[in-house]
This record gives sequence, structure tokens and C-alpha cells, in this order.
Amino acid sequence: MTENIVIVGAVALGAKAACRFKRLRQDANVTIIDKDELISYGGCGIPFYVAGDVSDETELRSTSFHMVRDENFFLNDKGVVAMIGTEVTEIDRTNKTVHIKKNSGEESDISYDKLVLATGSVPRKLDMPGINLKNVYNVSNLRDAIAIKKKITQGQVEKAVIIGAGFIGLEMAQALADMWEIDTTVIEYFDQVMPGFVSRSISLMAQRCMEKNEVKFHLEEIVQALEGDEYVTGVKTNKRTLPADMVIMSVGIVPNTILAKEAGIETGPGGHIIVNDRMQTSDPDIYSGGDCVLIKHLVTGKPAYIPLGSMANRQGRVIGTNLAGGDGRFKGGVGSFVVKIFEKSLAGAGFSIDMARKEGFDAVSVQVAQFDRAHFYPEKEIIYLELVVDRKTRTVLGIQGWGGEGSEMVGRINAVVPLIINKAKVEDVSNLEIAYSPPFASAMDIVNALGNTTENFLDGMYKPMQMEEFIECWKSRNNGECYFLDCRADADAIPFQEKFPEIWKSIPHDELERRCDEVPRDKKIILLCNTGIRSYEAQINLAAHGIGDTVSVESGISGIKDCGIEF
Ligand SMILES: Cc1cc2nc3c(=O)[nH]c(=O)nc-3n(C[C@H](O)[C@H](O)[C@H](O)COP(=O)(O)OP(=O)(O)OC[C@H]3O[C@@H](n4cnc5c(N)ncnc54)[C@H](O)[C@@H]3O)c2cc1C
Repeated sequence: MTENIVIVGAVALGAKAACRFKRLRQDANVTIIDKDELISYGGCGIPFYVAGDVSDETELRSTSFHMVRDENFFLNDKGVVAMIGTEVTEIDRTNKTVHIKKNSGEESDISYDKLVLATGSVPRKLDMPGINLKNVYNVSNLRDAIAIKKKITQGQVEKAVIIGAGFIGLEMAQALADMWEIDTTVIEYFDQVMPGFVSRSISLMAQRCMEKNEVKFHLEEIVQALEGDEYVTGVKTNKRTLPADMVIMSVGIVPNTILAKEAGIETGPGGHIIVNDRMQTSDPDIYSGGDCVLIKHLVTGKPAYIPLGSMANRQGRVIGTNLAGGDGRFKGGVGSFVVKIFEKSLAGAGFSIDMARKEGFDAVSVQVAQFDRAHFYPEKEIIYLELVVDRKTRTVLGIQGWGGEGSEMVGRINAVVPLIINKAKVEDVSNLEIAYSPPFASAMDIVNALGNTTENFLDGMYKPMQMEEFIECWKSRNNGECYFLDCRADADAIPFQEKFPEIWKSIPHDELERRCDEVPRDKKIILLCNTGIRSYEAQINLAAHGIGDTVSVESGISGIKDCGIEF
């Protein structure tokens, strides 16, 4: 008898599983069902569609050879029946049927041999006054995006407020501020953008870049209500009321697993579906993946929620393979991400320092700044990488970075991902083989420098001052305890010495040996240079002269400036 595969949800995971399965089993029947009429689109492209980089929504629904992935495409090209505008309202596991309700009101049951739940997630909803006002949007699907873009292109939006500074909030903020020049403010409950994903200093760099591009931020602020009668007119927080004619909610997502729960499929405390590494639920005839499941975090081995398109697509293939009788395995993930912030990129994988500590690791982090290409190559820019390691075992727990237009950063993060997955040590980062030619990298690339610097730190050779500490130290710079020793060339350092004569001293690194006596011995010496290389050398030189109470500012003046700290 011909096998019937039914898949609920037809965007990322569902469509991928269907097509993979059908390629392996041309003889079987595959039906994908989605309550929406727009299916199989690139949800990750939504911010770029709103921004105008992608001009037409059909581009998000098209193949690379320009065929729109609608129900005709699925039927004719893939041999898959797509039932759109059709909601699955119930699963009957005993009789192996799903109950469907079409937009037309028509209802029926469909039999399955194997079922896939690809129902994704729904936006987390804040329970507060005004949340249902008009012009308050989520950005969870293409329909939201089309509605937002329509409002904007009709010239109806002058002031927008984005609630939430996670990656979708940041992408949407720049979409509105950049192309459409909308007065855009982001409100965030935590004290940094991308909370949990990157360190405070890296978050400051991203925030600063966005502020330079006219996006405003209010951090550590709680939204209490959305104001307006029919349409939203303002956002009231615990500190102010901001005028707004559009509000975009991006405060996170929750798994959409009502169907699964009602059918008695095992879910975790947060409602996520529990699956094994074959993406099978507690019912072996029902598979699931994407935004509605927990997967294994490959650093901790514990279940984790990593709702990303990259995960959903790979899991979809595993499910397709297994539906066809194969033995596909999805081992888990470390949450690799990258976000475009205007012309720069913010990326990471594994744990940030905060998350690693929250997970119970005795974690430390080291940040370095270095040119993305050979220092002598004409086009180059300083980028930043931060490594998170376990202090005792020296195991790599995570990496995050800022800078570069894209491949400069994402290539380096991706190179370290297998090390994180394989529980490699910091020495493996120092020795990581990197393809090198001056227009692309350095002979001793920033990734290797990051490993070396972290080794030096763990071995006690390098005593850094992290940017967060520098910010605090600079605020209390006149307390008489610290002395800022600038190891750059005089041309760079003298203006600082003249501005802060009591606390700032210029001694270029190559003069330090003979001018050591000028360095006070009764104060903590804060060593600075442009990126941290010369100040590290200076630290070693001074130690040889018995001056040990020194710290070298991580990422140097370059990092300080990119964090937006004004001297
Ligand atoms: C704005 C935005 C930007 C993003 N950017 C990135 C990025 O840059 N990189 C990245 O890796 N990820 C990104 N993501 C995340 C990525 O899009 C999701 O992880 C991915 O789409 C999840 O796929 P999924 O198949 O699990 O669920 P979804 O794509 O959410 O699809 C679920 C589908 O199920 C349907 N459905 C639900 N319940 C039923 C029902 N009962 N009956 C019928 N149909 C039902 C829904 O209508 C929906 O179409 C982004 C997401 C958004 C919203």
C-alpha cells in the first residue's frame, strides 16, 4: 500500500522534509498543510524585504531559478500536495488521522502513516494595555512583513518603536531607519543589545554603530503600555512616553506546540516538543523539528532551544531521510548566528561569557582586536573577536565577534564552530589552520592571535583590563589610584597627555626600556595602545623592571572608541 506522509507546517522544516523524502521515495504520497497561503518562504529575509533590499515578497518565496514556491510548484515540480489556507486542528494518534479545517469552512480528516509537526513558533505576547492596537506588529511571518512594508511605502510611518533588541529587533530597526529614514527607537529591558548572546563590550560596538546610523536606544527600560485609541500613538515605559505611529514587537518567541500537547506528545516544561536525534517525538510515527523542538546543546549536552532557520533546514533533511527508512541523525548545535548591522557584522557561536557562567562554567573571556587582512594590505579594517573558555580545562566554550562586512567575521566564527563542538582546547584555536593571502587574512590570523592571547592570559603572562572594567575605571580616573600609560607613538598619544596631564603619560613602546624610571611605582598602571599588542609587550617589559601592577586594555584605544566611549 502507498505510504502517506502528512506534514503540518510548510515554511522551513516542513517544506525541506517533504522534498527530501519525495526525492528518496517517489512512490509515496506527501501532503504538506499550512494554515497560511504563503508557504516555503525565506523568513530570514523578512528584514531585508522590509528594508527594500529585496524588492518583492515573491523573491522570498522563489527558488534560485526564479520559480515561485506555491502549491502548483510543489505539485508539478516536487510531486508534493500542498494544502494551503488549511489548519490542522487535531491529531488522532489512535486512528492516525489529522483533522483539518480549510479557510472555506470545510472540514475533514486525513490519514497518515507518518506525521511531521513543523508548526514553528509564535511571538511571545506581552500582556499589557494597548497590545491589540492597530499598527502594532510582530515580524513572525511574511504576512506581517507585507503589512509593515505596505504601511511604510504608503508614507504612514514617521516614528517607529521597536520593542526588544535581539537580532530581529536590530535587523528591523535598521530596515526602518536606513532605507526609509524613519525615526526609530529600540527599547530593551536588559542593559545591552543582544542580551545573552555577546559580551557587553561587543554589544556596545553594535549599539554605537547603529546610533551613528540614527537608531536610538533606551536600555534597561520596561514597556508598560501602548497608547492610542484605535491606532497606536505612543509607547509608555517606566521612564518616558515615546510617540510612535508604528510599534514592532520583537520580544522573543515560544514554540507553537498546542497540537502536539493536546495529542499527548511529550513536551518539556516550556512547551517544546521533545525529540531524539532522529527527530522522532515520543510517538515514533510522529517527527518534529525546527522552532517547536528542543535540541541537544553540544557544549553542555543538555536540551536547548535554538530556533534558527539553519537548524530547521538541516533537521528537515534528517526527517526526510528517516521518513524514507534511512538513519539520519541530528546531533545538536551550538547556536551559531550572524547579524548584519549596517555595513558591519555581529556574529557568534557557543556561549557568551555571561551564558557560560550561567551554565555553571568557571568561564573567562579574552578579546582581541586585529586587522581583518594583512596589515600592509591597503584595504583593511580592525575587527574584534572574543573567546570564552573554561579556566581549568581550557576548553573552548564560545566565540563572538564584531566588525567586517560579512565574510571577514562569519568565516572566522564558522572556523571555530567545529572546535567548540569537539570540545577543543584553547591551544587548538592558536593552531587552527587558516587559509592565508594578504587580501583575506593575516599570516598569524586574528583567530590564532585570539588563541595565543587566551593562552597567555591563562598562563598568567598577560593581565588584561576588559573594556567593561576600563569603562568603570575611566569614570573614576581622578581618584588617584590609576595611571594611564599610552604606548603608542607620540603623535597619537601626546594629545591625550595634554588633555589629561595628571593621569595620562605618553611613552612610546620603543622608548619604554630607557624611560622606565618615569613610570610611577605607587599606582596601578593602565597600559594602552591602539589594539592591545604594544601594551601587552609593554606589560612584559615593565614586569622585567619590577613594575608588576599593570593591566593592558583589551582591544585598546580602537575598542574604546568603537564602544562609543568619549575621551
Ligand atoms: C524576521 C525573522 C528573521 C530571521 N532571521 C534568521 C536568520 O537570519 N538566520 C536564521 O538562522 N534564522 C532566522 N530566523 C528564524 C527562522 O526563520 C526560523 O527558525 C524558521 O523559520 C523556523 O522554521 P519552522 O519550519 O520550524 O517554522 P516556521 O517557519 O515558523 O513555519 C511554521 C509554519 O507552520 C504553520 N502552522 C502552524 N500551526 C499550524 C497548524 N495547526 N496547521 C497548519 N499550519 C500550521 C504556520 O502557519 C507556519 O507557516 C528569522 C525569523 C524571523 C521571523
